[in-house]
Amino acid sequence: MFLVDHNLTEEQKMLRELVRQIAEKKIKPFSSQMDEKEEFPAQIMKTLAQSDLFSLCIPTEYGGMGTGLMDLCIATEEISRVDGGVAASYAASFLGMFPILLFGTEEQKKKYLPSIASGEKLAAFALTEPEAGSDASAVKTTAKLKGDSYILNGTKHFITNGGDADVYTVIAATNKKRGARGMSAFIVEKGAEGFNFGKKEEKLGIRASSTGELIFDDVKVPAANLLGQKEGLGFIATMKTFDQSRPGVAAQAVGIAQGALEAATKYAHQRIQFDQPITSFQGIQWMLADMGTKIEAARCLVYSTASMVDRGLKSVGGASAAAKLFASDVAMEVTTDAVQIYGGYGYMKEYPVEKFMRDAKITQIYEGTNQIQKDIIALNLIKKYAK
Ligand SMILES: Cc1cc2nc3c(=O)[nH]c(=O)nc-3n(C[C@H](O)[C@H](O)[C@H](O)COP(=O)(O)OP(=O)(O)OC[C@H]3O[C@@H](n4cnc5c(N)ncnc54)[C@H](O)[C@@H]3O)c2cc1C
Repeated sequence: MFLVDHNLTEEQKMLRELVRQIAEKKIKPFSSQMDEKEEFPAQIMKTLAQSDLFSLCIPTEYGGMGTGLMDLCIATEEISRVDGGVAASYAASFLGMFPILLFGTEEQKKKYLPSIASGEKLAAFALTEPEAGSDASAVKTTAKLKGDSYILNGTKHFITNGGDADVYTVIAATNKKRGARGMSAFIVEKGAEGFNFGKKEEKLGIRASSTGELIFDDVKVPAANLLGQKEGLGFIATMKTFDQSRPGVAAQAVGIAQGALEAATKYAHQRIQFDQPITSFQGIQWMLADMGTKIEAARCLVYSTASMVDRGLKSVGGASAAAKLFASDVAMEVTTDAVQIYGGYGYMKEYPVEKFMRDAKITQIYEGTNQIQKDIIALNLIKKYAK
């Protein structure tokens, strides 16, 4: 199907086909409406749940299918090929789930993972604040122990699934003096007293996903919900979570780029100028060739990184950052070229490629901007080669 055969297992090929069918039949018909109205795809989340797609990556003992990150990347890629916004809502639940899986106690995993795996509950991850973006250690939300509860106060913003999720992994300072080491993670349930949802953002792209503000006003969180039952895990849990989730953002970028390439190739074949399809012009052929090659290079990086995670390799931060950096830049380049191939029509909402371009941009920004990814990659290189 692609230029490169990625040596997927039969199960992974079947998974790709299943998600492609769902995306084509159950997502595509509603895509432009969700984009226009900025609608959260609640019904589509249920459809994905019915096909067990929220159970990927979660071990069987917690109600999951016990598959690896590679499967999640394939699913995310296929959803993104049709709608990057739906993919963001889907992937953000895994972003909220990973800290529990990686750092939760046995009790916390047993309590929260089965309902996330079944899709009955949607998860979200809340780190970012108005004054703590790239500088994740600057969070101002506080959590103070009082009796057998922590009292949370503060505001998170730009949170995917904010307001629509049921379970939130929230990063808060338990000891401000200790900076990054004084940050802890908490599992907070929707409906907790004092936990409210503020502004919903209006966005350029991924408009089928919700991006909201979380307001904590003396929210009482049981001490049992301190992640890992240990203060100070917040920053490391965040970094280790990103190591696993960034290949997913990269897969989102690959899927968006793939969707744009397929649309542009079909269009170019049909569009007649100078009495011939524009695919007969070398200028267009070479653009398509560059787009296809870049996408395959990005896909290779995504799958290799996912495979590193699935093989249990410890040091995956550099590869995850590289996959996200490269794939998201490819997505932006490819979708911009797709608009170019459509000419003036590409600029119009009636055609699909301007949406791909708008959806692609976020992959260069969230889960750490690409400038931050470069810092991580450089640090990894310096550690390896500059001894
Ligand atoms: C649609 C959307 C969904 C999101 N979903 C979530 C979510 O679910 N959970 C969550 O916690 N967060 C989420 N975020 C937040 C996202 O991760 C942050 O927006 C991102 O990390 C950047 O932070 P910032 O917006 O504060 O930008 P800033 O940190 O203010 O950065 C501004 C610019 O400065 C650059 N910059 C900053 N520091 C450096 C540096 N050291 N070196 C070089 N350049 C630098 C940045 O690259 C950027 O270009 C989401 C954001 C968006 C837009």
